[in-house]
Amino acid sequence: MAIPDPALVVLVGASGSGKSTWAAQRYRPAEVVSSDGLRGVVGSGPADLDASTDAFAVLEAVVSARVGRRLTTVVDTLGFDTTRRRSWLTAARAAGLPAVAVVVTAPTAVCRQRNAARDRPVPAKVLAQQLRQLDVARADLAAEGWDDVVVVDTADTATAPSIEQPSAAAAPDGSRRTSTGVEVVLQLSRFPWGEDPLGWLRSMALAADEAGFSGLALMDHLVQIPQVGRAWETIPEPWVALGALAGLGTGLRLGTLVTPVTFRPAGVTAKAAATLSALTGGRAFLGVGAGWWEREHAGFGVPFPTARERLDTLDRSIRTMRALWAAGTKPYDDGRVSLPETTCYPRPVGPVPVLVGGNGEHRTLRIAAELGDGCNLTTTDPTTLSRKVAALHQHCADVGRPPDQVAVTVLDVPVVGRDRDDVWARVERLRGRTAASTFAARSHAGTVGQHRDRHAELAALGVSTVFLTTPDLGAPDDVLALADLVR
Ligand code: GDP
Ligand code: MG
Repeated sequence: MAIPDPALVVLVGASGSGKSTWAAQRYRPAEVVSSDGLRGVVGSGPADLDASTDAFAVLEAVVSARVGRRLTTVVDTLGFDTTRRRSWLTAARAAGLPAVAVVVTAPTAVCRQRNAARDRPVPAKVLAQQLRQLDVARADLAAEGWDDVVVVDTADTATAPSIEQPSAAAAPDGSRRTSTGVEVVLQLSRFPWGEDPLGWLRSMALAADEAGFSGLALMDHLVQIPQVGRAWETIPEPWVALGALAGLGTGLRLGTLVTPVTFRPAGVTAKAAATLSALTGGRAFLGVGAGWWEREHAGFGVPFPTARERLDTLDRSIRTMRALWAAGTKPYDDGRVSLPETTCYPRPVGPVPVLVGGNGEHRTLRIAAELGDGCNLTTTDPTTLSRKVAALHQHCADVGRPPDQVAVTVLDVPVVGRDRDDVWARVERLRGRTAASTFAARSHAGTVGQHRDRHAELAALGVSTVFLTTPDLGAPDDVLALADLVR
């Protein structure tokens, strides 16, 4: 039983059934709008019934404002008022927010007992009336059109639904760590290395190794790209930087994601990748793409031909690199690429996997199907991803390659937090002027446990490798915090 997030969650239950406790265990205080709580704000305390009208006026304003922003809102009242319930549901529908009713129940005797133990118990007659109202409400809920009606029995907490599995991340003995079925490579895209570039790079790689990442990938850009940071922020030449990490004694695979074929002649890139392979004992990989950012080409005096020409170059580049990496020194000619000799030493230690970056369904994925060991997609949206994978597999069929020879890899840039509070603090810090709900949805903001579930879903769609980076990855501790997502 999973409750969508974000969502409008309307609690329904008698006094002492455990509504507020249930909400507090799962949501941040700001997400819960409680009539008792607001009686304490606008009146003398949670039991100040004379303040009810004012408290509900504030409650309605808060619900309307939060739901309108598509922010998770848990309405903690008795929940027996049909008119209010329907108007909350209508507001959620208008905002496009899923709406779930949560019926909180406990055996009558338990409710009575809990009620009696309170500072200001509700009179026994009132409680009895509430329990009758609950039966009416439960019957009505089914016809009101909620996306889900969840029943929580607080006498049997084992059936309580949760919106996440905090224990997956929190278990100190790691006992809940299970494989999600994907391999995870850390992608470094920003380099806040201060006064110690080499020390920072090494400590990030050592942390990645310790956290259990299978590899480390660097972007290949001449100027920091706007998707990541400001143009004047540091971005190192990746082959030099990867060379510095080759001798650290880690088991990390090292490579680029992705090297534009426009930057260097293909043979020179083949040479760099072969050298990295030799220096790492065969742990090098090469992400390669057509290049897309005109500005960095212009600023560095690098030609930036048309998209069609760049894609032609991508095709020829992979052929050239594979020819140079192959055994021997003989001439090479496949009709598109012709080389008088293929003398390239050092030889790579074993084959260098080539991942073709880019989302173009017509040509890029065709090139990946024909010449790549994998493709790298920049979407993790299930619908789009399924379509791209289908396109890739169609190309594989067209060129006569088994689809399992062409891995599907994705770039994933989520916001990851320790717990719900931490996730939201990061969203607030990072969102800029984007609405929080939009930013949270776009960045899949969630806990490590939620991202594990998402990665398992990606695996089910055919993804074998996730290149993972986060928008706030700045220090080794940030890398180590991802360990439970990787193992
Ligand atoms: P509400 O009136 O529905 O908001 O109920 P509360 O959440 O305030 O809970 C009333 C009392 O029941 C409190 O003393 C809670 O500690 C207790 N309680 C709530 N949920 C549970 C539960 O799942 N198990 C047990 N054993 N006690 C609970
Ligand atoms: Mg309560």
